[in-house]
Amino acid sequence: PWMRDARTAAVIAALSAGGAEVRFVGGCVRDALLHRAVKDVDIATPETPDVVIRRLEDAGLRAVPTGLDHGTVTAVADGMSFEVTTLRRDVATDGRHAEVAFTDSFREDAARRDFTMNALSATPDGAVYDYFDGLADLAARKVRFVGRPQQRIREDYLRILRFFRFHAHYGAGAPDHEALKACGMEAAGLARLSGERVRDELLKILAAPQPAEALLEMRGERVLEQVLPEAVHIGRLRTLAWIETAGLRREWLTPDPLRRLAAVVENDRPAVLALAERLRLSNDQRDRLADLAAPAAGSPEPEPALDDAGLRRLAYGLGNARLRDRALVLWAAERVAQGHPDSRRTGLWIRLLDFAAEWTPPTLPLQGRDVLADLGVPPGPQVGELLRRAEALWLAEDFRPDRADLLRRLRETGPAGGAG
Ligand code: ATP
Ligand code: MG
Repeated sequence: PWMRDARTAAVIAALSAGGAEVRFVGGCVRDALLHRAVKDVDIATPETPDVVIRRLEDAGLRAVPTGLDHGTVTAVADGMSFEVTTLRRDVATDGRHAEVAFTDSFREDAARRDFTMNALSATPDGAVYDYFDGLADLAARKVRFVGRPQQRIREDYLRILRFFRFHAHYGAGAPDHEALKACGMEAAGLARLSGERVRDELLKILAAPQPAEALLEMRGERVLEQVLPEAVHIGRLRTLAWIETAGLRREWLTPDPLRRLAAVVENDRPAVLALAERLRLSNDQRDRLADLAAPAAGSPEPEPALDDAGLRRLAYGLGNARLRDRALVLWAAERVAQGHPDSRRTGLWIRLLDFAAEWTPPTLPLQGRDVLADLGVPPGPQVGELLRRAEALWLAEDFRPDRADLLRRLRETGPAGGAG
């Protein structure tokens, strides 16, 4: 569909205006061949970035210089964006980044890519160029390095993690033996990579259909101990992925890498925070991970005795997303710990998940200005206090009291908040 999109045609036409041959490259070609959804469309051209910018602007398209030192310009056509990159070849590498030079050879550009299935290119009319047997590997679901694995890994150690990532998402059967051995031999080089690059690949590995199998393969080659030594509960991760995708309820299906990370690590808040720091997680990601992996003391624990009103209160307090995440992680941990499932507990988790998927939390039918106007309370901290009291009343009565009820009750007990 993206290939036949008018916006794609407009970008291709603009880039071809000077007669240069342009092609789709990398992941979008691979995914199109597999009929998988394409995340980003990458286009390669022999023309340099300044020429690319001029051609796009001449055609009335927006050109954003997103990575000029890598030769990348983002083309935007009617809200759809394309990464346009000048063909490159590696001239030097230091294990962390490559120094590249521009080239006009699609073959040289393919040769510096990591795996044969990622080294395919395709012309706008659909001819596929395959310099390294990527089509056969793709059909066989074999993730294979372009060139000699050990040498390619030494150029950029991230390729070790990329190997496990692509195997987890695209591979079938045992991973390529030679590649696996090379990953094991070069694993120590992973220590040289930045937290950000490791994080991006790890989260993608965790988003795979069978993340536990991927981590076990990594453990077997001593790769896991380099990048995620905290991953001790692989059984929980397997169970969580199974629950998420067993198809019991559609709403649970989205595999979530942070939730999966939370399931696989120990309940130890300082260790979880240190992990978040090392992987340079955002503050939101860190808080979510910590909240799931090692909830703060006093955080509410769901119990089978929970009645409907109690469940609504719990959901209101946590929010649907946190309720769902917590139920999934706790369910997975419990299932692994118990050996055989307790149907009463299983019923609880299913109830929580269904609830989180369907319920829309109500909003307190009272606002600060109601308190100011109707109760004649002056602006200040008292307003917030009254609202909190109203919320407590409202929650205690299962969200039934309306605005008038709440105002009356506040008036009765006195705006000052007590018998006073
Ligand atoms: P995704 O759909 O997950 O984005 P992708 O194939 O587009 O998959 P990217 O990480 O976005 O993966 O990289 C785009 C392309 O760039 C890859 O298909 C590969 O050809 C090349 N590439 C990216 N990183 C490397 C690397 N470290 N070494 C060699 N080639 C790489
Ligand atoms: Mg991509």
